Amino acid sequence: MSIESKTITVGLIGNPNCGKTKIFNRMAKAHADVGNYPRVTVEVEKKQFQHQGWTITLVDLPGVYALTSQSQEERASRDFLYSGQVDLLINVLDAGNLERALFLTTQLLEMGKPTLFVLNMIDEARRKGLSFKLNDLSSMLNGPVVETDANRGEGIPALLDAVVAQAAKMEKDVRPLRITYDSHLEMAVDKIKGLIRDLHPDEMNDAQCRWLAIKLLEGDDELIRQESDHEHLQEMVRRMRYDLSRHHGDSCEMMFANGRFGFIHGLVSEAVSQSIDFDTRRDMTRLLDALFLHRSLGIPLFFGMMWLMFETTFSLGELPAGWIESGVSLISGWVGGMMPDGLLRDLMLEGVITGMGAVIVFLPYILILFFFIAFFSETGYLARSSFLLDRAMHVFGLHGKAFIPLVMGFGCNVPAVMATRTIESPQSRLIAILINPFMSCAQRLPAFILIAGAFFAESSGLAIFLIYMTSIGVAMGASVILSRFVIRGGGESFVMELPPYRLPTMGAVLYHMWDKAYDFVRMVGGVIVVGSVIIWFLQAFPQNVQLSQDYNALIAKVEQSQSLTPKQIRHELTELKRTKKQEEMEKSYLGQTGMAVSPIFAPLGFDWKDTVAIISGFFAKEVVVASYAVLYNEDDSEETGSEGLRQALSKAMSPVTAAALMVFLLLYSPCLSTFAAIKREASWGWAGFSLVFSLAMGWSLAYLVVVVGTLLT
Ligand code: GDP
Ligand code: MG
Repeated sequence: MSIESKTITVGLIGNPNCGKTKIFNRMAKAHADVGNYPRVTVEVEKKQFQHQGWTITLVDLPGVYALTSQSQEERASRDFLYSGQVDLLINVLDAGNLERALFLTTQLLEMGKPTLFVLNMIDEARRKGLSFKLNDLSSMLNGPVVETDANRGEGIPALLDAVVAQAAKMEKDVRPLRITYDSHLEMAVDKIKGLIRDLHPDEMNDAQCRWLAIKLLEGDDELIRQESDHEHLQEMVRRMRYDLSRHHGDSCEMMFANGRFGFIHGLVSEAVSQSIDFDTRRDMTRLLDALFLHRSLGIPLFFGMMWLMFETTFSLGELPAGWIESGVSLISGWVGGMMPDGLLRDLMLEGVITGMGAVIVFLPYILILFFFIAFFSETGYLARSSFLLDRAMHVFGLHGKAFIPLVMGFGCNVPAVMATRTIESPQSRLIAILINPFMSCAQRLPAFILIAGAFFAESSGLAIFLIYMTSIGVAMGASVILSRFVIRGGGESFVMELPPYRLPTMGAVLYHMWDKAYDFVRMVGGVIVVGSVIIWFLQAFPQNVQLSQDYNALIAKVEQSQSLTPKQIRHELTELKRTKKQEEMEKSYLGQTGMAVSPIFAPLGFDWKDTVAIISGFFAKEVVVASYAVLYNEDDSEETGSEGLRQALSKAMSPVTAAALMVFLLLYSPCLSTFAAIKREASWGWAGFSLVFSLAMGWSLAYLVVVVGTLLT
């Protein structure tokens, strides 16, 4: 912090799911992920902005319940707090569950850092009939208290002003809160404090010594390790912890916790009042859970809702997709009319516009799907779906903690792989990472919609629903296989937090949708353009290859022919041009590569074009559709755009092959970004394993589809 240059670093800290990220986004006008399930933020996120002449670096920390905790993301928060990088803390509290939230606060206050308090979700608290005496709270907590409703943005300006006001006071440290514990504890604290003072005579003031003494007695492993040079101190701490728990029949941590809760209880009784006894909300949650988490109804209901979601996505998306389609062909005609003939025109029309156009038509589907996912996430249902899947895993004797980050995988596998950091046991975590690529991310959706639309017209929604079910099923199956045969041990039981049901605000849902739409459009402008251009070049070059027949002469002959009717001539010409293009493509770099690899896929019935699309999907799943569009782009076909593409596809393969292709595209490999994320979170070895494992899984299940499909038809 520097007063002269007016810069300050501010950290947001609080329990999981209390709205920290929402506040972060509001304050810094950022777009980090929020969701109504715990532990969406697993990394420290930073953003710098200006307010009233101050440069504020705001840091969003992963949620924590206490500072003496073990899991990786909780450690990230803690390390950040202790590192001294932060000048001011904003402690975000769920105003509706103040007693629980204040437990962390008591630990923060003892540190003596300048802290601001935010009573977030004030809208819910008010609905519960709670009201807060802000002045009393502020003086008892020794820091400003601001009420906010982060969903609507209420109170955020006041919070920003409070940050600046606090910064201008330039306090480095404040008077730390002093909770008076049980007298035996206090004696122990005093003794340890004395020892610490002797060991660190000049570095720490009295309050810091007390803080460290409390932490050591609470059993903070990390800090105890830091004192490893001081044999005597460690020995004393150990002995006192032992003596205290023997005399009281309670662990030392428990005794401290009791002291903290006593403080909290006093504080809340003084400064919080409840006008009406408002339990209906909790009753509501209980009632809904009785239904949604029902032992036998829960899973069918989940499937039912998923099915409804895909049906709706499909039928609602069609109309706007048609509009975009017409827009694309307008642009294509316009650009075609403007540009002179030549390679550049071909590149623009057959490469860039065809590729981008093929993908952008799926925007409405993505929007609708994410509307639903945002809705489920905000209401709290998404957290229930993990719970249901976890419970289903108990049938196999497994605890499905691995499923918590999975639902995130429906969006994108990369953040979902990172979210596995919340899992403490390394074995469970590894399983969660390895099954994640089986979750069908949004980038795969366009390919499914394309293929389903081409082959299963009437029941496209059902086909996509089945693909998603396969996705979940394979993820579950893979976790059984992996935990039985590859990665054993580590299955601990755990309590899954179930957030309360909430009626989501339209704003929050639309915000999510907008966020995804933005990502999607950016991706079309970036990776799709690059992918289409590369594919186009590889299929257009080398030019002037030796062809098996002189097509141009043949074409000229047909054109001048007297014996054929005009209709026959047209037909002959189309046919000739098609075979010519086909042969040119097969002799191109792309054709050669595709043909070299395609024998692997011959048993599945995929041809070299499918092979090329599959290879392009290794880099990014969303390029698959663009590849098909460029590969099947025929200037002369009657239908243009995606209808033409669908027709061309339906001529090129059988429905059974199409189904196998969908299964293969679903499972076959993590994309490059996910691969990199796996490597980062696990190792090169496991990333390689994931690649081989998913390829084997994709191939064998696609083959199964072929075998069963052929038997049935
Ligand atoms: P974090 O885990 O602390 O980062 O919490 P998030 O920012 O991800 O928010 C968790 C959930 O609470 C999301 O569903 C938010 O939309 C919701 N939420 C956040 N702030 C408020 C608020 O002030 N009022 C209400 N009603 N909901 C909120
Ligand atoms: Mg968060």
